[in-house]
Amino acid sequence: MKKVVVVGGGAAGMMAAIKAAQRGNRVILIEKNEKLGKKLFITGKGRCNVTSNKDIEEIIQNIPGNGEFMYSSLYTFTNYDLMDMIEAKGVKLKVERGDRVFPQSDKSSDIIKCFEEYLKENNVEILLKTKVTDIIAKDNKIYGVEINNNEIIRCDSVVLATGGKSYPGTGSTGDGYTFAKKLGHTIVDIRPSLVPLVCKEGWVKDLMGLSLKNVSIKVKNKGKTIYEDFGEMLFTHFGVSGPIILSASRKISDILPDEVEIFIDLKPALNYEELDKRILKDFQKYINKQFKNALDDLLPQKLIPVVVNLSGIPSDKVVNSITKKERGQLVNLLKSFKVTVIGTRPIEEAIITRGGVSVKEVDPSTMESKIVKGLFIVGELLDVDALTGGFNLQIAFSTGYCAGMNC
Ligand SMILES: Cc1cc2nc3c(=O)[nH]c(=O)nc-3n(C[C@H](O)[C@H](O)[C@H](O)COP(=O)(O)OP(=O)(O)OC[C@H]3O[C@@H](n4cnc5c(N)ncnc54)[C@H](O)[C@@H]3O)c2cc1C
Repeated sequence: MKKVVVVGGGAAGMMAAIKAAQRGNRVILIEKNEKLGKKLFITGKGRCNVTSNKDIEEIIQNIPGNGEFMYSSLYTFTNYDLMDMIEAKGVKLKVERGDRVFPQSDKSSDIIKCFEEYLKENNVEILLKTKVTDIIAKDNKIYGVEINNNEIIRCDSVVLATGGKSYPGTGSTGDGYTFAKKLGHTIVDIRPSLVPLVCKEGWVKDLMGLSLKNVSIKVKNKGKTIYEDFGEMLFTHFGVSGPIILSASRKISDILPDEVEIFIDLKPALNYEELDKRILKDFQKYINKQFKNALDDLLPQKLIPVVVNLSGIPSDKVVNSITKKERGQLVNLLKSFKVTVIGTRPIEEAIITRGGVSVKEVDPSTMESKIVKGLFIVGELLDVDALTGGFNLQIAFSTGYCAGMNC
């Protein structure tokens, strides 16, 4: 019986350990936290968008960071295989907007419990509160792992599933990059992806906490549109965040520090003319009020003072004296509400780490290192990254599965 050590008890590590045990190996899963799946627990705001219901080709289109590396593993262990595996343990799943798959219970803990059951029934030995401090190879072949700086566990294979560098409080502190580098692997520049954005405009902090549900955004660099999306976004004390902003951040971070502007269409359901008519209707209703008191039906309260300020229309101007030209300024502002991006938040606040172990040095169908025999590299540690929508967890599960199959 071969002995396999899996380092890291996140999505990829748990999957690899289960599969390796099902293949008849003795498997030890080592996790430095006091429990498994700490990051998995906070995914999808605690609801866990566990995968996507899209077909594989579409999934790959949503993996801008080395999606082509994922062909083999995604076809070996598909999103439907993952869904079957989870539902076989009685955890019912549901599909939401954008083909996002969640547990019906809306509880990420149900997904973790499901994996814990598989680990248990396949007799995976789990070492919690145990930190792997070194991976030892001899003659480019795995020899074992060092734990807690003192003890060595000998083994035939090591699956490295230590995750990325974002949200370090969950245990993903980037240890795997150090191990892989020491073993001869190239680490492609580590950067934040799916990350909130910092904006130049001081007034954004006045909008902190304001969530806009159905808006569309156009991202422009030097006047050219480079990205468009529709959905939900959020203002924060430093700038903008929320689903469509996080997805846009991947493209934007490529362009920074070059200037990037986001134009938010606050009323995408109405064209310019329709919006003008709508404002006119409101102005007729509030005809004797001051401008600042005439927007209650049109905008969320928090947004009104900022819009009034940016509109160029005096806030105390009585509505019946607002000119057509001024109304036009207001329409333009609401259809093209601009924020200027000057940076991203740090990697610690990113959903995903971009960069990682170079995929050129890893076999895409087995996840085995092309440098060290018996070393398998999986999950976010790899230089693969996707957009939001359940794709990143599917990457972790598919790569974990392939390593488990082949180690
Ligand atoms: C807030 C947030 C929400 C997210 N929501 C979603 C979502 O809804 N859908 C989605 O698809 N993706 C989501 N993601 C991304 C997704 O969580 C990750 O891509 C995925 O968890 C990566 O899995 P992994 O197993 O590679 O790494 P991780 O889940 O990070 O697991 C790595 C594990 O290794 C352990 N470890 C590290 N170093 C050592 C060591 N030296 N010794 C022992 N153990 C070690 C860590 O403690 C950790 O438990 C989200 C991420 C964040 C931060």
